[in-house]
Amino acid sequence: MTTELAGLLDSPEAARVGAVLVIDKGALVANWCAMADRAASAECAAVVKANGYGLGDVAVATTLWGAGARSFFVADIEAGVRVKATLPASRTIVLHGVPAGTEDELATRGLVPVLSSLGEIERWGAFARKLGHKLPALIHVDTGMNRLGLPGGELDRLCNDQATLLQGLDVQAWMSHLACADDPANPLTAEQLRRVQAALARLPNAPVSLSNSAGIFHGADYHFDLVRPGIALYGPNPAPWLPNPMRPVIRLLARILQVRDVVPPDTVGYDATHRITAPGKVAALGMGYADGYPWSLAGKGVVMIGGHAAPLVGRVSMDLLTADVTGVPDHLLKVGGWADVIGPHRDVDQVAKEAGTIGYEVLTRLGSRYHRIYVGG
Ligand SMILES: *Cc1c(COP(=O)(O)O)cnc(C)c1O
Repeated sequence: MTTELAGLLDSPEAARVGAVLVIDKGALVANWCAMADRAASAECAAVVKANGYGLGDVAVATTLWGAGARSFFVADIEAGVRVKATLPASRTIVLHGVPAGTEDELATRGLVPVLSSLGEIERWGAFARKLGHKLPALIHVDTGMNRLGLPGGELDRLCNDQATLLQGLDVQAWMSHLACADDPANPLTAEQLRRVQAALARLPNAPVSLSNSAGIFHGADYHFDLVRPGIALYGPNPAPWLPNPMRPVIRLLARILQVRDVVPPDTVGYDATHRITAPGKVAALGMGYADGYPWSLAGKGVVMIGGHAAPLVGRVSMDLLTADVTGVPDHLLKVGGWADVIGPHRDVDQVAKEAGTIGYEVLTRLGSRYHRIYVGG
């Protein structure tokens, strides 16, 4: 543990909570720069939806603004307003588009919606004509995801009637989204690129945006003018077929609240699922499933205390974890001390794998109770 971190864990703020989330801004910047370098011919945006993948959208956007990021993607207007208010000169792009009735707020705040249907295109265009000036938008063309984006029939109508439909719009990018970029064996990725190219041939000239984090690893053909990395910025491996090229961004530490001696036939925790087979020690740690630690991880996982591994045992409680600390020397096992839950010994991807989920979900479920410490800025 660095002396900087040790000092921060000693603070009055940390003393008031059961667990601390350390966010390394230096790693965040390094990861954004690595993605920007990898797609050097494109502008590199930062996707900060879902509260910056759980790490704080304003904090993440502000940090990356300092590193040179100028475009930020959020899911909804609520988040867009927050980011834009903090970084007024940024281009803040709202993936969910422009729900009916929100036109005025989006335009007044200077937010840029991603339009995913002809209905939205017509509505945003009509609002622009009412205001008497052009309004910015990205237009999302579906190429195989079948989630958001203009379906094929609507794309045909847009192509055939572009002069009317695009009137009043400043199209800042044609956008599409890859469905399978994290699986290099899936042929849909190349097929989506082909469909993007076919669509572009029928549309007026504007910048193009296709790749999320994994897409950026498919090479320059996928970079176009604007790339949209999200997960890679936050440390999980965006390209599972490679050793993780990203730097870890988070470290999660839980407080040691109590240590007790246990002997057979004691059991630990709810439903008495863990049975003690030899005399030993169990520690209670100050976080649980209410902090986003998956309940499904009962009996899996390991924490680190003073460089010694301690397996988690028994159920995951709402606010507590229990670890078998028999192997941790007494002088390292202090009530009030800290156990690494996610850290150098065990990253987000590993926790996700054990829980049967993905790093995205582990990050975005990180709870609101942690004392958050931003280091390395
Ligand atoms: C979430 C999202 C991204 C970022 O995806 P990552 O896999 O996290 O890099 C990019 N584009 C769109 C449309 C998204 O919804």
